[in-house]
Amino acid sequence: MKPAPFAFHRPSSLADALGLLAAGEARPLAGGQSLVPMLNLRLTPVDALVELRAVPELRGAEEMPDGAVYGALVTHAAFEDGLVPDVTRGLMRHVAGRIAYRAVRNRGTIGGALALADPAADWLTTVVALDAEIGIVGVAGERWVKAEDFVLGPYFTILEPTELLTAVKVRRLPDTTRWGTYKVAVKAGEYAESLVIALIDTARNEGRIALGALDGAPLLLPQSAAAACAGTGGAALAEIVRAELAGSGRDLAPAAITLHATAVTRAIAEAVRP
Ligand SMILES: Cc1cc2nc3c(=O)[nH]c(=O)nc-3n(C[C@H](O)[C@H](O)[C@H](O)COP(=O)(O)OP(=O)(O)OC[C@H]3O[C@@H](n4cnc5c(N)ncnc54)[C@H](O)[C@@H]3O)c2cc1C
Repeated sequence: MKPAPFAFHRPSSLADALGLLAAGEARPLAGGQSLVPMLNLRLTPVDALVELRAVPELRGAEEMPDGAVYGALVTHAAFEDGLVPDVTRGLMRHVAGRIAYRAVRNRGTIGGALALADPAADWLTTVVALDAEIGIVGVAGERWVKAEDFVLGPYFTILEPTELLTAVKVRRLPDTTRWGTYKVAVKAGEYAESLVIALIDTARNEGRIALGALDGAPLLLPQSAAAACAGTGGAALAEIVRAELAGSGRDLAPAAITLHATAVTRAIAEAVRP
């Protein structure tokens, strides 16, 4: 199937891109890895596309002493290949390398993935675990929001139709922070059925665990993180994780609790392995 007809714009500045979005029913286009299939299947009515790849303000990455800012157009492949600085001790590079397959990673962008807000997407859970900030710009100006406040639900964010996600700000992980990940997927490169990013820092007694592939935004598990930082493991940790999931308020059937609890404990185990 082919998409319904639409106008196509290719602005070369952020101001022009925002002007086009403000002018009417237009959708931003980044890597096209999700939007183009939706257009082809006619799942998304679009009058006009605003292609972002010639907008210089959305490209590249900048490293600072305390972290890095990644432009919305940085591709998964650029993270995977180390073409942008990694302030997360290899976590972002690892995450990028297991998104879909290489052809998708070559074009898919971190900004597009976050704006889409697929609950099973890798970047969404990762940036929540990293306590990253997301830059948003519209005609009214720029704002930065915490990643956990950016997502409201499945495919639902605080972005207005006339706004663009511009960048992701990630703080540098301390040398003492260890990370672990666990992704349950039908096969390599597929979207996750459970997805966990665990950051454990026993020296600082700080931990942050985010669970994705749920019915809504990624879920933070502070009790499980605190237990892991305190050195709790084995059956005692598994019980704490299960209890936190059961009391999370999410609609989780017993089988889902088992699946996600297993993923959480395995991600923690990877983070704290000697
Ligand atoms: C076969 C396949 C397998 C995949 N598997 C995975 C997987 O395992 N894990 C995973 O995380 N992802 C997966 N993906 C998705 C992939 O990561 C895409 O790159 C991502 O979902 C969208 O990024 P994009 O740059 O292509 O965005 P686009 O498709 O261009 O846009 C996606 C949406 O975001 C909006 N948008 C794009 N950029 C901006 C911006 N800067 N500001 C505001 N709105 C914007 C668009 O309007 C659109 O609504 C898969 C995709 C495919 C095709």
